[in-house]
Amino acid sequence: MNLTSTPKELKKYLASTEYLSRETIENFRRNSEQEERQKILSDKLESFIIERCPNCGAYGFYRWHFLGKLKHPDCRWSWYVKTGTYIRAKFKDAFSSVFSDVKQDVVGSGIAVHKGCFDVISDLAFSIASFFLVILPITIMLIPIQLFCRLTQPKPKNR
Ligand SMILES: [Zn+2]
Repeated sequence: MNLTSTPKELKKYLASTEYLSRETIENFRRNSEQEERQKILSDKLESFIIERCPNCGAYGFYRWHFLGKLKHPDCRWSWYVKTGTYIRAKFKDAFSSVFSDVKQDVVGSGIAVHKGCFDVISDLAFSIASFFLVILPITIMLIPIQLFCRLTQPKPKNR
């Protein structure tokens, strides 16, 4: 990640990279004064998780893939996060998606002013219902699948 890269280059880089070391991030945060680039970084880092590579021990930000799969290109290792980490991350996602809907309805962007009270309540009910009927069951259903993938993954050779 280059400190002189334009916001566009930075976005492109962060959209494709699998791993960023903690030093890279800290160095960037310290030396980049442009607020726009700082914001791009913090937005894009939401799809990353701080972990340690089980193969070579590299500590940093890894891109989150389906079922919590992470890849470390430097040592060509990929692995699944611990099931506890997976559950915490998925529940956080599920809750924050519902709460951002609710927040948008109630306080967001002046929409609520134009909407009737009934509309707001029915939207709210829809968000909550979709959380309990769709998001939550899928989240729970994927947990044993994640556990299975994690338990059947190959063990690191280096350590
Ligand atoms: Zn590694």
